[in-house]
Amino acid sequence: MGFFFDLYPTMPEKKVIIAIDGYSACGKSTLAKDLARSLNIRYLDSGSLYRAITLFCIQHVIHPEDIKSVVAALPFIHLNLSLGENIKLTMNNEDITDEIRKTDVSRWVSEVSVISEVRNKVNEILRGLGKTNSLVMDGRDIGTVVFPNADLKFFVTADVNIRTLRRQKELEALGRQITLQHVKENLLHRDNLDSTRMDSPLSKAEDAIIIDNTNLNREEQLELALDWYNSSLNG
Ligand code: C5P
Repeated sequence: MGFFFDLYPTMPEKKVIIAIDGYSACGKSTLAKDLARSLNIRYLDSGSLYRAITLFCIQHVIHPEDIKSVVAALPFIHLNLSLGENIKLTMNNEDITDEIRKTDVSRWVSEVSVISEVRNKVNEILRGLGKTNSLVMDGRDIGTVVFPNADLKFFVTADVNIRTLRRQKELEALGRQITLQHVKENLLHRDNLDSTRMDSPLSKAEDAIIIDNTNLNREEQLELALDWYNSSLNG
């Protein structure tokens, strides 16, 4: 897709934070990566930090619903995220970039994410990175809680059956054969927990721009977002 990015040589002159929130597997991270690349700024996947803490719990046989034990484990979890097109995430000096995508992490991550102490730990890291860097960050509460003053906010959505198909394809590309029904159940389970939790539920920020990409391809989605960027921040 190289040529496509060359159409928009729009690197921001001042520090810019772009928040992208939305449901599971709705194309947030694709849009976030594409935007970051077009604008020549960094991309940050906030969900990877929740996944890392979940992985730690699984590795140490801490049940994700045992809130006390999860909270007690937090001081022993040292996360480091190197920003860039290929994000590298380490936990206690071990590269866990691929491991956090495994099915059992996806199964339990939303249970871990309801815990306020977990959210505080993650938010401190995210806000620290946002202090000095221009960022495109995707997640569930970026525009509402993490960076309520973000320069531009998108809320991405798509039909659940389309999201299921896209996620299954992604998993297949990673060599994982998972039935459509199983993928859909996981998405709905996470959407439900993410939208109904007490602390920072997934919701659209009032000033977020909705992008429904059910019928958009990757290039069309990026073009739409860049149009918004150019009219809101570059106009
Ligand atoms: O983005 P991803 O699907 O990898 O996120 C995994 C999970 O992390 C989400 O289902 C949600 O439970 C949690 N999450 C969150 N807040 C964020 C990002 C992710 O609660 N900002």
